[in-house]
Amino acid sequence: MASKRNKNLMKRTARVYLNDLNAGKSEIVRQFLFQCHDVMQYFIDLFWQRKDFSGKLADLPTVHRARQRFGITTRLGQALAKQASECVRSQHKKYSKRKPQLRWHTVTLFYHFVTIKPFKGDGFDWCVKLIGSGAPKLIIPVKSTKLINQRLASGWQISKTIRMGLRKGCLWIDFIFEKQRPPLRTFGRVVGMDSNYKSGVVFSNCQVVGEGIYQRIQGFKKRQKHTRTEIKSMLGYALKSVDWSSIKVLSIEDLKKVKHGKRETFSRVFNRRLSHWLYRTLVQLLERKCEEEGIQLVVKDPFKTSQFCSRCNRWDRRNRKGDRFKCVHCGYLTHADHNAAHNLELLGVAGVYGLRSYLSSFRQSVG
Ligand SMILES: [Zn+2]
Repeated sequence: MASKRNKNLMKRTARVYLNDLNAGKSEIVRQFLFQCHDVMQYFIDLFWQRKDFSGKLADLPTVHRARQRFGITTRLGQALAKQASECVRSQHKKYSKRKPQLRWHTVTLFYHFVTIKPFKGDGFDWCVKLIGSGAPKLIIPVKSTKLINQRLASGWQISKTIRMGLRKGCLWIDFIFEKQRPPLRTFGRVVGMDSNYKSGVVFSNCQVVGEGIYQRIQGFKKRQKHTRTEIKSMLGYALKSVDWSSIKVLSIEDLKKVKHGKRETFSRVFNRRLSHWLYRTLVQLLERKCEEEGIQLVVKDPFKTSQFCSRCNRWDRRNRKGDRFKCVHCGYLTHADHNAAHNLELLGVAGVYGLRSYLSSFRQSVG
């Protein structure tokens, strides 16, 4: 029953860096994270050696072994064994089946170890309290962020569990937010989306956003840092201005079928791998947005969607020239991305995966 309820929960995180934490507390947290890291790697080695890829909870004798070896509590041992077994399981599912080496110092702390309360007093907003059970006893005052405030204002509940970690020498806490997933919409229309970053994110209901992103990318300096973070936030910002209210189903290209070189070629600094990364990031943002809005996201085969005429239902290689689409059969003239977005809408409406099955069902209905 509990798992069924959890399936209907959406989860998001918001990271806060603990730059204001005093040196003494910082050191305690650091030591704790290092210890957790060692224990988890111990469990990973153990599960890997046993070929236990089930991801199941560790038995008590196993937990006790770590307890004796590292001098930790049973409860902390159980929590770390759980994370280790999930790590082993997900690694085993991957193509490369090498034993995982924990590079990150990240630990998930359940409500046995931590409480989160509003901070009493000035200067901070949250009081994150490590309450023992194997974790150190410690009060960590935390300042709220814009993202946290936005989530709380839009009905997200703060979870009792946090994640804590170390990245490039900085300590951070991830607050986890939960919200009931809305039911899928029963009204609205099917809309296709295509994007190649020169013209932004193009929707078949004539909305276009993010036109400036390509220009910004071209303006990046060769060794500029944080470019991906900036592009991601630009994409996120662009999607905010989309009107989602009339959309029931969003039809996009299947990421698995998008070829690496297919998208717009970037300058040598921003190569094809970046453009592929861009599309993947866009898809991730859309997945979240659609989930929150109750919009069904469907993926389609991009095969020939850029050369197919959405007006006369005929395909020709010569139809597409750069940004311009002009049908050699019926003369239909439009922007290439609009045509592709429209084709994705066609596939979405017809409920088929690719143009081949679309055409065969179309021919059948014509006779
Ligand atoms: Zn045509």
